Amino acid sequence: MATATIIDGKQFAARLRAGIATQVAQLKAEQGVTPGLTVVLVGEDPASQIYVRNKGLQAREAGMNSFEHRLPATATQAELLARIAELNRDPTVNGILVQLPLPKQIDPQAVIEAIAVAKDVDGFHPLNAGLLAVGGTAMVPCTPLGCLILLKDRLGDLSGQKAVVLGRSNIVGKPMAALLLREHCTVTIAHSRTRDLADECRQADVLVAAVGKAQMVKGDWIKPGATVIDVGINRIPTPDGKGRLVGDVDFASAVEVAGAITPVPGGVGPMTIACLLLNTLTAACRQHGLPVPEVKPAAE
Ligand code: NDP
Repeated sequence: MATATIIDGKQFAARLRAGIATQVAQLKAEQGVTPGLTVVLVGEDPASQIYVRNKGLQAREAGMNSFEHRLPATATQAELLARIAELNRDPTVNGILVQLPLPKQIDPQAVIEAIAVAKDVDGFHPLNAGLLAVGGTAMVPCTPLGCLILLKDRLGDLSGQKAVVLGRSNIVGKPMAALLLREHCTVTIAHSRTRDLADECRQADVLVAAVGKAQMVKGDWIKPGATVIDVGINRIPTPDGKGRLVGDVDFASAVEVAGAITPVPGGVGPMTIACLLLNTLTAACRQHGLPVPEVKPAAE
């Protein structure tokens, strides 16, 4: 049986980061502007600490300024909002990301809405979501942006493709669907109330799975030759007790049917941070009234 092409997101993300670094260097040399990314972490969540460290590291590697603000797990919502207000005013900060999840005393929606729209590099502010929906100049959420870049690299023009997005969250499913619609796909959004999920998926030339259910999408849900983007990150138990990461797609059966597929890990995940850097560069240019450069991934 045919075996799908594996879309190497880790390698593509490295090339994209190198392309971003080139543009950052040019921006510094020609305009004296260094993009600045601030990541705010509240509490001590171990996974969040790793994410924050990686974001800072990769921002610095791309030549950006990287700032980290840590607040204790006991911080109040008012304290966090006051910190965000300071960052909104700080001209050296072009992008603000508040690492989620937040401690339970803080309402994440209030925090998202407090970030200046122009500095909202996560693209979660309702105004950015609205701008994306009406085709305006939005900051686009990083994970769906990364998926779209991989899809366009693989397929070129997406116009007329039948796309199915599995999942309708505000951070992945909905913006993914909006982006695919903007690319002139015919888009179906499926979710937990969809009647025949397998049948919907089988119609898709492009299938994006973002449900958070380990290995849910089986090979026989996939149209032969389809391009499958697996956003899911799920840890499943292993005999040694360490567990391992799998996606929302059952890779072993899907790889036999799909035309191309992203692995987990090493697919969409690395693209998310690369797109955070891309958004920070975009935000810096817009805030200085400069044209946003076209970033090309470095050659292989
Ligand atoms: P959410 O839990 O917010 O949303 C999940 C969506 O999947 C919901 O719309 C839900 O439907 C739907 N869903 C859940 N169960 C089923 C089911 N059995 N059948 C059909 N639909 C179902 O998740 P996120 O969007 O935040 O994340 C999705 C996955 O992507 C997770 O594994 C997450 O870890 C991963 N992720 C990966 C990122 C990366 O960088 N690679 C970044 C962000 C997320 P309903 O709305 O009806 O409840």
